[in-house]
Amino acid sequence: MATINPRFGEELKKYGAFDFNACYNCGNCTAVCSLSTEDDSFPREMVRFSVLGLEDDIKSSLKPWLCYYCGECTTNCPRTAYPGELMMSLRRWLTSVYDWTGLSGLLYKSLPLSIFAFILAALGVIIFSVQEKFDLATIMHYGHYFEMYAILTVFGVILLPNIIRMWWFVILKPEIKVSFKNYLSGFWELMVHMFTQKRALGCDDNQLRWFEHFILVIGYLGLLFTTVVLDWFSSGSLFITVLGYLLSIIVFTITVIFVSERIRKKKELSKFSQPSDWLFVIWLFLMGLSAFGVRVFIDTKILENNIWIYLLHLIILVQWALIIVPFGKWTHFLYRSFAMYFAKLR
Ligand code: SF4
Ligand code: SF4
Repeated sequence: MATINPRFGEELKKYGAFDFNACYNCGNCTAVCSLSTEDDSFPREMVRFSVLGLEDDIKSSLKPWLCYYCGECTTNCPRTAYPGELMMSLRRWLTSVYDWTGLSGLLYKSLPLSIFAFILAALGVIIFSVQEKFDLATIMHYGHYFEMYAILTVFGVILLPNIIRMWWFVILKPEIKVSFKNYLSGFWELMVHMFTQKRALGCDDNQLRWFEHFILVIGYLGLLFTTVVLDWFSSGSLFITVLGYLLSIIVFTITVIFVSERIRKKKELSKFSQPSDWLFVIWLFLMGLSAFGVRVFIDTKILENNIWIYLLHLIILVQWALIIVPFGKWTHFLYRSFAMYFAKLR
């Protein structure tokens, strides 16, 4: 029997949802949603579940991840119940449900706590730099190690267990039988969605947004590869140097577009930004820009006397790797891709 949490609506509001109780269940939102299908019908059902407090049903649902937030449903809702924003809030809430540490939920709900975590990370870098007497070579050496080990640790300790928890909620707990062969054959779907997010193309008038997002993912992953594997900051190769410049320019240019859209609030998906949305785009922008700056200082041979640019980059990197990637909006990239995979299995 389904359990009802009468306080679920109040809890969801802490993740950005509002006015969804105004829904009178007309179904307009589902009718206009170009991604909703007969088998996977949303967002009306998710609005209903949220109003009723059917927490367990939402936990086992993949539907919040099947929405790409075009905002059509919100535009056409006769009760201004903001179903698109509700779907976004459910994704934030689910992120906190999957996270075994509980930190995602705390950080999503509290901006002061997020700021405290950012300050703590910055202090960690500053204290380490003081201990190392601001020796550039040593700090850069450990900075590179941090890049490598932070990725492995965050994935192994936080993200992988969280994906297993997601699998538990959506496949194992509802006792959905999936053969090993299907797990293997569906894996291709996971890779395709992870790198292309092609489902977003199904949203009306979303092609430009999809393209910007696609270029950003390629730029971000490419920059990660160039700095971590190809060791961009120490490389003497012209090819790697130019590649790093190009990728960092892509990252900070596209994020400038995303930030300006959130400021102008013209599109539905940019109208109601939560702190986690701002932190994600701004830190991605800062990562691209500061990495670009470090390499410019290396190439103009002024880094030795301007170590502050590398320290700034390292602080941004540590905050990104230890806060935004494991507990912030970055995880949407991962959960959405796995949602496509699990949806295929189901
Ligand atoms: S959210 Fe709006 S459009 Fe959707 S069912 Fe409710 S009232 Fe109708
Ligand atoms: S925001 Fe767009 S994709 Fe998401 S439920 Fe609404 S209409 Fe569908």
